[in-house]
Amino acid sequence: MKAIRVHQWGRPEVLQLETASDPQPAAGQIRVHVKAVGVNPVDTYIRAGEYAIKPPLPYTPGCEAAGVLDSGERVYTFGTVAGLVLGSYAEQILCEPWQVHPLPARLTFAQGAAIGVAYTTAYRALFERGRAQPGETVLIHGASGGVGLAAVQLAVAHDCRVIGTASTERGRQLVREQGAHIVCEHHAVTETPDVIVEMLANVNLAGDLELIGRRGRIVVVGNRGTIEINPRFLMTKDATIAGFAIVTLAAEESEVIHRALAPGLADGTLRPVVGQEFPLAEAARAHEAVMQSGAAGKIVLRI
Ligand code: NAP
Repeated sequence: MKAIRVHQWGRPEVLQLETASDPQPAAGQIRVHVKAVGVNPVDTYIRAGEYAIKPPLPYTPGCEAAGVLDSGERVYTFGTVAGLVLGSYAEQILCEPWQVHPLPARLTFAQGAAIGVAYTTAYRALFERGRAQPGETVLIHGASGGVGLAAVQLAVAHDCRVIGTASTERGRQLVREQGAHIVCEHHAVTETPDVIVEMLANVNLAGDLELIGRRGRIVVVGNRGTIEINPRFLMTKDATIAGFAIVTLAAEESEVIHRALAPGLADGTLRPVVGQEFPLAEAARAHEAVMQSGAAGKIVLRI
């Protein structure tokens, strides 16, 4: 089979398409014949050698995929036996049973490859860390990317009042189409949210603290640097800043989230949005694209 391998940390060109032997499942493992793979910013951080997780070289990148089991059943995956953020840029992957979920017939494989990271993250941010309640106002600060669009769909389905931001008109149009009630540029929010799901905390956290309502919850999902904040807002507003990394999720925690997502994926309430597709061989181009601004859904590798 073909797989992407990384032999040294560095720029996207270190992603090499190679031939490897077909993986053989050990007892208790599941083999997936992959049709599509999700591309995530974390794949680029790991490839560059800049992430907390540095796998031994060489390694195969990738957190998520969709495909079929040996039995032909359609599935999507989050994680492989190599870990939650490793191993999926390949024609065949091995997973633990808890990493494999049924892919409803209404979703394409490309959409299936866009579920694992984005919806797990959005669900955990909104409901587990943000404790968003129906009727509350939720700001998805960075709503045009994989996590943001999933969060808009989940928050709308939860009867929240949803504000979504994006830097381009194309991105804002997509956010509107997912049902957001107010859509604007990243720095044009004037409402007072109860919950903020923050995609770029090093830029926005200080402003979020001014914006957030009383007893509000700011959930840091994405961050690419440092920022100075005034903690006084936390006191005067009785507010909370939370954060998490899905890479630390335990098997049971992941299973709880994917059970909760299943009805929405089956009835069409949750509709993963694929923005761009590249062949597996062009993983390097996909890594360039995922780090550019002007997001419009998820980037997926086709097999
Ligand atoms: P993505 O598809 O590349 O989307 C990036 C999003 O960030 C876009 O909506 C983009 O909007 C937005 N953005 C850019 N500049 C912004 C700004 N100044 N203020 C607010 N938003 C801004 O990436 P993703 O998969 O959705 O992931 C989003 C972030 O969360 C990444 O940093 C990723 O590493 C992180 N993440 C964390 C976890 C976790 O476990 N904590 C899990 C998944 C992802 P425009 O392009 O329209 O400007």
